[in-house]
Amino acid sequence: MPRQLFVTTALPYANGNFHIGHIMEYIQADTWVRFQRMRGSHVNFVGADDTHGAPIMIAAEKAGKTPQQFVADIAAGRKPYLDGFHIAFDNWHSTDAPENHALAKQIYLDLKKTGLIESRTIEQFFDPQKNMFLPDRFIKGECPKCHAKDQYGDNCESCGAVYAPTDLINPFSALSGAKPELKSSEHFFFKLSDPRCVAFLEKWTQDGKLQPEVANKIKEWFTIRTNPDGSKSEGLGDWDISRDAPYFGIEIPDAPGKYFYVWLDAPVGYLASLKNWFDQGGPKARFGDARSFEAYMAAADTEQYHFIGKDIVTFHTLFWPAMLHFSGRKTPDNVFVHGFLTVNNGEKMSKSRGTGLDPLKYLSLKMNPEWLRYYLAAKLSGRNEDIDFNAEDFMLRVNSDLIGKFVNIASRAAGFLTKRFEGQLSPACDPQGQVLLDEIAAASEPLAALYEAREFGKATRDIMALADKVNAYTDVFKPWDLAKDPANNQALHQVCSVLINAFAMLTRYLAPVLPGVAQSVQAFVGSDMSTWQHPGPVQRIAPYQHLMQRVLPEQLEALFEPPAGTEPEKDAPKKGADAKKPAKKEATPVDPNAPGGEAIAPTIGIEDFAKIDLRIAKILACEAVEGSTKLLRLTLDVGEKDANGQPQTRNVFSGIASMYQPADLVGKLTVMVANLAPRKMKFGLSEGMVLAASHADEGTQPGIHVLQPWPGAQPGMRVS
Ligand SMILES: [Zn+2]
Repeated sequence: MPRQLFVTTALPYANGNFHIGHIMEYIQADTWVRFQRMRGSHVNFVGADDTHGAPIMIAAEKAGKTPQQFVADIAAGRKPYLDGFHIAFDNWHSTDAPENHALAKQIYLDLKKTGLIESRTIEQFFDPQKNMFLPDRFIKGECPKCHAKDQYGDNCESCGAVYAPTDLINPFSALSGAKPELKSSEHFFFKLSDPRCVAFLEKWTQDGKLQPEVANKIKEWFTIRTNPDGSKSEGLGDWDISRDAPYFGIEIPDAPGKYFYVWLDAPVGYLASLKNWFDQGGPKARFGDARSFEAYMAAADTEQYHFIGKDIVTFHTLFWPAMLHFSGRKTPDNVFVHGFLTVNNGEKMSKSRGTGLDPLKYLSLKMNPEWLRYYLAAKLSGRNEDIDFNAEDFMLRVNSDLIGKFVNIASRAAGFLTKRFEGQLSPACDPQGQVLLDEIAAASEPLAALYEAREFGKATRDIMALADKVNAYTDVFKPWDLAKDPANNQALHQVCSVLINAFAMLTRYLAPVLPGVAQSVQAFVGSDMSTWQHPGPVQRIAPYQHLMQRVLPEQLEALFEPPAGTEPEKDAPKKGADAKKPAKKEATPVDPNAPGGEAIAPTIGIEDFAKIDLRIAKILACEAVEGSTKLLRLTLDVGEKDANGQPQTRNVFSGIASMYQPADLVGKLTVMVANLAPRKMKFGLSEGMVLAASHADEGTQPGIHVLQPWPGAQPGMRVS
């Protein structure tokens, strides 16, 4: 029986376009969904716009639109992002749709029957000019603590103090500028402090399903909570679920002029979008599932998963399961929390603000969406942790992994098969090739387990390790050498066939991350890439078409170029900056009588030499640099590890392309200056320098010779 999965991402607030943080979450969920579908699961994957609340009402008024028109205009702009990054939601809906109005009201009425809804009269700031109660964020005034002016009603951005809006000195409405009045109003509360709720939530959040770091954080909320005025209280607080008119939202049944607080009806939007998908007949057309939405949601085997960011954990692990449970509905099977995405170590991406990497600009520069999918997958884990998009790292990772390790396998073998063997693959296989193919096939279940656990970073690392083995096999059998002698035809045929079969299996493993590439490879190798199971050896290939271009430095420069009109501060050349640049070779006068063509430099003390940290480095990878005839890009291992204990490499550009083919250097040891300040070059960041010998007179005695230590030296050893 296929698994029945209902999967959502958090609903984006419809007051602006998607930013890169949204796209990261959608890519994470989409990758997981595609994997599940390859395993044969029946997945309903839905999203919707979160449309209600005061900020949208106010933004719409400013824009001279009705709130409905305002959110419809935002919704109309969603498609280019989703299509552009190959994010395949089954349905995209709105929390202002009729399904959501009906479901939110029904859930509320069901909750009311349990006695968990209570009304209380509270005092709030009211704008007498706008004739409305003011949300905390729309009240400003002087901080009661540090007396900074123009601070928000909930906390001071200047000194960080947390307080109630009523504590502000000289408060004013951010909407009209009027002095707000305190006015009492009846509000509805969901009694989370009720012992039934506490008992249920303690169990629901601590039964081991949630990520441990998330469950631990939630545990604190059962003992301590922070009140709006900054004081601490014991246990869960009741949740204020109503707002007074005027409010863009869903009117509460039997309470005219009262509306659900936006966070009550927002998660109900998951169900509304799914119901709309069922009512359209989506699951029936897709899997022959003719059940109603209600029957599907009530079925014991329906699994419900929400992908969310760490800023909305409270809503999804306390309010939402409690709303569902006490209204007599099934609760989610899990909530998968991810951290924030920063860009170039910059500002965090949260729901309300996005900076740095504009997703539409990325697409408009014709940058491949699957580069980003791969890069994010390579960084994502099953844990709630922040990740950083780093431009240099992005280019290096994509070019070295996807182009250098993966795509190259196919491009190396395809030409021989097409030219010499009419595209037919050899059914026979050499013993080493068979061992290699068996090893790749055996990785299927371990990789599936990693995808299931959302450990995409580990999965891509393991897939690239397999690609390394395929490339090592290629280097042993050297098809380009075999091709020189027709006597080796059979061996050439077998080796190239092994490579294509290996490539087809690796493509299958990468298909959840790279759906577009998998589609192209499907046409190339003639085997269905929509299943996780390998369907057997490739029979024949179609002529090879380029699968992917490499990332160009110019593209990244254009991507991060500030938009016109925001003139950046020009980097004024700093005094003495030139002195930092390495001395040019031409500057050294050539002395034909001196050793190596130049005089020995002035004497230094041992303490000067000790400042230079020379280390043994292993050249893990080496590749040509597009646009440069001089440089090679080296990936070096000097024995370093990152904070997670993972091996960390250095990227170094070296002007040795005239003397060495990249393949000559891979696997060799050399010596590098490990403490040289990193240098930003046109092609990326160079994190050190490799030692090489050359004659001062390049004109008559050209050549540059990389240093290699004697046997026994290990990466990371200091040279002194
Ligand atoms: Zn302050």
